[in-house]
Amino acid sequence: MASGSYRNGTPKTTKPDRSTSSTYTTPKPTAKSRVAAGGGANVRRSSAVPLIAKDDAGVPGRVRVAVRLRPQNSEELVADADFADCVELQSELKRLKLRKNNWESETYEFDEVLTESASQKRVYEVVAKPVVESVLEGYNGTVMAYGQTGTGKTFTLGKLGEDNIAARGIMVRAMEDILSDTSPTIDSVSVSYFQLYMETIQDLLCPGNDNIAIVEDPKSGDVSIPAATVVEIRDQRSFLELLRIGEAHRFAANTKLNTESSRSHAILMVHVKRSIKGRHDGEEGFPVENGQASSLVKSFRPPIVRKSKLVIVDLAGSERIDKSGSEGHTLEEAKSINLSLTALGKCINALAENSAHVPFRDSKLTRLLRDSFGGTARTSLVVTIGPSPRHRGETSSTIMFGQRAMKVENMVKLKEEFDYKSLCRRLDVELDKLFSENERLQKDFEDEIERVKAEAQNRISEVERKYMISLENERLKYQQDYMDSIKKLEEKWMINQQISNNERFWVGNHEGFMDGGEASVPSTSDSMNDDKQLVKTENLLRQSSEDEVSSLKSQVAQWKRLEAAANAEIVKLNKKLESEAHQKEKLEEEINILKNRLLQLSFEADETRRSLDRGGSGKAFSGFDTFMSQARSSQIRDSANGQKASIAKLFEQVGLQKILSLLESEDADVRIHAVKVVANLAAEEANQEKIVEAGGLSSLLILLRSSEDETIRRVAAGAIANLAMNETNQELVMVQDGISLLSMTAADAEDPQTLRMVAGAIANLCGNGNNTGRSLLIEDGALPWIVKNANNEASPIRRHIELALCHLAQHEVNAKDMINEGALWELVRISRDCSREDIRMLAHKTLTASPKFQAELRRLRIEC
Ligand code: ADP
Ligand code: MG
Repeated sequence: MASGSYRNGTPKTTKPDRSTSSTYTTPKPTAKSRVAAGGGANVRRSSAVPLIAKDDAGVPGRVRVAVRLRPQNSEELVADADFADCVELQSELKRLKLRKNNWESETYEFDEVLTESASQKRVYEVVAKPVVESVLEGYNGTVMAYGQTGTGKTFTLGKLGEDNIAARGIMVRAMEDILSDTSPTIDSVSVSYFQLYMETIQDLLCPGNDNIAIVEDPKSGDVSIPAATVVEIRDQRSFLELLRIGEAHRFAANTKLNTESSRSHAILMVHVKRSIKGRHDGEEGFPVENGQASSLVKSFRPPIVRKSKLVIVDLAGSERIDKSGSEGHTLEEAKSINLSLTALGKCINALAENSAHVPFRDSKLTRLLRDSFGGTARTSLVVTIGPSPRHRGETSSTIMFGQRAMKVENMVKLKEEFDYKSLCRRLDVELDKLFSENERLQKDFEDEIERVKAEAQNRISEVERKYMISLENERLKYQQDYMDSIKKLEEKWMINQQISNNERFWVGNHEGFMDGGEASVPSTSDSMNDDKQLVKTENLLRQSSEDEVSSLKSQVAQWKRLEAAANAEIVKLNKKLESEAHQKEKLEEEINILKNRLLQLSFEADETRRSLDRGGSGKAFSGFDTFMSQARSSQIRDSANGQKASIAKLFEQVGLQKILSLLESEDADVRIHAVKVVANLAAEEANQEKIVEAGGLSSLLILLRSSEDETIRRVAAGAIANLAMNETNQELVMVQDGISLLSMTAADAEDPQTLRMVAGAIANLCGNGNNTGRSLLIEDGALPWIVKNANNEASPIRRHIELALCHLAQHEVNAKDMINEGALWELVRISRDCSREDIRMLAHKTLTASPKFQAELRRLRIEC
């Protein structure tokens, strides 16, 4: 590079990195540069420390500065037509000449000099692209534009290029590169957009959010604006939309504040988070046991994420604000508006001069950009200037700003973090797997223990069984040995016995010749005696144990016999019990059948009675009242025939005796049904004799006497009435005190039906036409009751009584009693008033036929 150039108005003092940097490229971290960084640590540069950083050592780098000259605009073309431009660019030399006057100029060297014809693409590539690439590698980066209003800051940074794709500015192109280099699935790109005006931060993505705080991490020195809206960017289209919205909000906000956008700083922050794979060479940061990383730790290293941030700042116009208030600002406002930019200038000056104190905290802008100047970010500054000599002063100060910024050195650092969250998720999944595996193994282990236990138990039982068998064998063997030894002893004893007998015989025979052998005999005899004694004791013992055994055996046999007998008895009793239970079951079944049948029959009987009632007469008296039968409808006949069939069936199924026995049942219901069935049976002439033979009449009379239930008494009276159609039965009824029982029943009756039944019975009892003697009814004193009820209000009762009187009157023998009891008057009334012609005629006939009645009537001068 040519010497004699000037930077910042002073002869160039070359620094190796600057003088050799003919191209504007990103310095790549090298081993050498790391060492250099470690050696030349600067307090300001190392203040920000990443949480966990792989490349902890920073890479030194300076703020890169490019200058861009705007072409003359239409106004300048006219206004400055007669004047030369105040700047002259030597882009290939990266120099700019600022003309002081026609003969004097100052030359400045920049990292890049962009002429008025430089394309937006080229501007992006030389100014921003290296920073964007660096951001994609994990470093923080800043691109900012500084310059007088109208010199092209927004044109350079924020042009959307909707109409002309070639006009796209740095923001749009940077995002294109970022999106194309990141993966939407594993990486994340998000954006915040805000403006800073009069020391207030306003969210351009959420206008209501208009006073956002800056937060600094005291440890890492990281600056963030957590309250600002952060929007995840997935594609370029949505990013452009977001920029448009931001711009619209900026415009609206500035209108509201009555200011121009040139007075505020617009800041776009792009957060890039990238997952890094396969970067674990060592095991730093992981807990290890005994100096060895466990396999689990090895397989579960947390993935590394690189977090970086690209900040694009469109600074407010660098021109001084007129403090006189000509722009409508108060002095305080003017100070405040200028504050941030002034503070930035001061900080850059301090950094450029390596001053001990850099007043970052003086303004919000410097707090925000702390990392961009003298921090750990790569920073590119584009200073924009206009060609007009009328703004020479502003252009000059802009160039000086750029020159000073070029002196600022940064210490870029890679920020890598372990992504513990995703590791945690993976570990959770693995832990769940291990838990279930452990549970499975536990279950297998328990099953195995159970199996082994069962096997051991089987073996123990087997051994025990074998042991018992061998014990038994042993016992048998010993028993056998014992028996053998007894046997041997017995044999020995027998031999000894024999010898002793022989000796005795020998001694007896040769008594006279004993002298010579006397000495040996006593010793033999002694041993024999001993043996004998032994055998005897042995025998006694054996005998006693044999006795004991046999007594025990007989005892056991006796117990067994007793047991067998008891068992046999139990079996017998069980059988008996079973058969009785069976019998009971059968009986219960029969009772149930019977009950059902009774229910059915009594229901049918009730039905029949009702239909007969409707027909004008009671079925019970069909045998007696022949004339009544004529009135029955064919329907009733059918019903009666059906009932007859049912009753006949009942006879077959149950038997009369059983039905009659139910009359004495303890169950009132059963009694009622039974008596109804008997009454219905009694209505059939064919059954009457059987019923009486089976004692049915007596049972009915007992019911009449003893039953509390009027229904039972009424039905019983009906049944008796039917049975009383037969002469023999009439006598039986009367003999058994039937008349007075019927009278009593009538007297106690509350239901007129009962009276009707009694009257029917009495009428039938009166019908013993063949009997020539005095009516038993009269003898039994029923006549007064008859007379009393002869004119009963209920016509069926009245009719029965009237018939009864007629029947009694047919026998002359009764005439006297009838006259005495007032029955004659009733007969006269019947002969005159009875509604039934046949009865009227009958009464008349009996009155005229009886001499006694005739005499009485004559005596009383009554015409009949
Ligand atoms: P600033 O943001 O610095 O106030 P602008 O970006 O708004 O300035 O630019 C002011 C005007 O100049 C705009 O109309 C813009 O289109 C135009 N302009 C700026 N720079 C260029 C350039 N390099 N080429 C063509 N037109 C430009
Ligand atoms: Mg602008």
